[in-house]
Amino acid sequence: MLGIPFDENSSFMRGSAEAPGRIRDALFSGASNLCTESGHDLSIDTRFHDAGDVHLSTPQSAFQNIEQAVTSLTEKGVHILALGGDHSITYPVVKATARVHPPFSILHLDAHPDLYDEYDGNRYSHASPFARIMEEGLVQRLVQVGIRTANPHQREQAERFGVEIIEMKDWRPKMTFEFDGPLYVSLDMDVLDPAFAPGVSHHEPGGLSTRDVITIIQSLNQPIIGAEIVEVNPRRDYEGITAMTAAKLAKELAAKILH
Ligand code: MN
Ligand code: MN
Repeated sequence: MLGIPFDENSSFMRGSAEAPGRIRDALFSGASNLCTESGHDLSIDTRFHDAGDVHLSTPQSAFQNIEQAVTSLTEKGVHILALGGDHSITYPVVKATARVHPPFSILHLDAHPDLYDEYDGNRYSHASPFARIMEEGLVQRLVQVGIRTANPHQREQAERFGVEIIEMKDWRPKMTFEFDGPLYVSLDMDVLDPAFAPGVSHHEPGGLSTRDVITIIQSLNQPIIGAEIVEVNPRRDYEGITAMTAAKLAKELAAKILH
């Protein structure tokens, strides 16, 4: 588990840089335990390790720092569960992961497609990581679930890159997702309805329930080479409920990676 406290590429609101610490607080708090729902106890699994936060020297060098940190860990055979940070961190994380791992696909859970060619003049915006990833051909397939904000530009981009989108309006409970090879899971917490996860920068009503997301994670049956949880914004959270939800999902993701 690797914290990435970076929110410089957020377009609307800062605060997600504070998320790794708050998610850890929730994860290791006495309010719960480190067991998944299926009984995998991470507290006694020595393969589960908190690697702390990536040291970011300056905003300009952040992507380089992230890429280096992820590369040096993955080269040792470590699988990363990244805690963001805003969604822009996905580009350096996936870039580093793609360098070491054999070809993989991404399952991307988000209210937003994050496919803008640029946003407010920033090509590395948290609204653009998947445009960069697809341009560079870093992954086999990109499958997005929970999308409910796709405008004409982003629909064009999805078409151009062959992105497969299951929009929220077409979502049905018990949907499952088939992938041939290994998978990286990118979880933007705003895929959840703001009623379940108010501590995010972009409230987009009409989203998935916490139970829906848990079920999606538990139903994955291919190797998960890495995952991330991004866009928790503690400044907007109530009573740490979003951090606790992220911690719960982190446990389920970590166990899936280890499994
Ligand atoms: Mn996103
Ligand atoms: Mn989002």
